[in-house]
Amino acid sequence: MTSLHRFSHPLTFNILELHDRLACRGFSVLLCWVPSHVGISGNEHADNLAKSATDSINCPVPLSDIKKYVKIKLDSNWQSQWNLKEANKLHSIKHLITGWPSLPHRKLDTVLTRLRIGHTRFTHRHLLLGEPAPLCTACQCQMTVLHILIECRQFNHQRIRCFHSSSITLKDILHKDPHPQLFTFLRMIGFYSLI
Ligand SMILES: [Zn+2]
Repeated sequence: MTSLHRFSHPLTFNILELHDRLACRGFSVLLCWVPSHVGISGNEHADNLAKSATDSINCPVPLSDIKKYVKIKLDSNWQSQWNLKEANKLHSIKHLITGWPSLPHRKLDTVLTRLRIGHTRFTHRHLLLGEPAPLCTACQCQMTVLHILIECRQFNHQRIRCFHSSSITLKDILHKDPHPQLFTFLRMIGFYSLI
């Protein structure tokens, strides 16, 4: 009740005030909850009319087939546009627009998505703060997700421990099924909490 606001819920306040006035005069008000619109003839009539609006389309092809065709066409156009986005960071990992399953753990899923699109707090915070981009002190180049996960030589030891190779690609570890040691690696190099 504390979250109620007079201006955002005027009808509720009118009802409460009316209830209070009646209660003050000794009336006992019984509130009754109406569970649904089922059985109310006007509502059922309106529902039937809404349904008949789609049934009565004068077309030899069923509506479900039209919907399927439109979806295939939209997906095809979307894929064609995505094929052209070669500079997009996600594109280098994900060539097809088909959906990938999300991880059951929300926090891990967020971290994985940020790595896939190449945007993390650590690598992009400077844009919001108007500061210079962070540099890798070992390599004297800009810190990017690609540099941290793949290129930077100072993490080769951890790469070999987690991925059994110092020469890996973003696709190897961030693809549809991310590498099982990905989050261990991120924690080992101290990057996890900065994503
Ligand atoms: Zn480096």
